[in-house]
Amino acid sequence: MNNDLIFQKIIKKEIASNILYQDNIVTAFDDIHPKAPIHILIVPNYLIKTANDINKKNKNIIAHMFYIAVKIAKQKNISEDGYKIVINCNKNGGQEINYFHMHLLGGTKLKTLY
Ligand code: 5GP
Repeated sequence: MNNDLIFQKIIKKEIASNILYQDNIVTAFDDIHPKAPIHILIVPNYLIKTANDINKKNKNIIAHMFYIAVKIAKQKNISEDGYKIVINCNKNGGQEINYFHMHLLGGTKLKTLY
């Protein structure tokens, strides 16, 4: 299976996953291999492959993804202590799934890269 199809199937509820939030623009669900106590993926409902594909037409979707990520962080009570929002792009950025997504990570002190 083309790996971008995994997220498309989760959005359409053809693959079971713990969907925490969904509207007509984005879907948020638990990462299958959590790297922190809270590890949620936020994805647009239509395929944007990588950060390189953000453009004038779809840039508002990215703002909405951020808005929902922060909303979920508050609901999960990790906003005061803090969290990371991570976006990996392509090979050097460590992107494994070719479907643009944000990682919301929290619930513990997270390591920093720099
Ligand atoms: P990337 O490395 O592309 O930024 O992150 C892909 C993320 O998708 C990884 O954290 C991985 O655990 C998660 N993932 C891969 N396959 C599935 C799946 O079938 N279901 C869910 N919920 N997460 C997945």
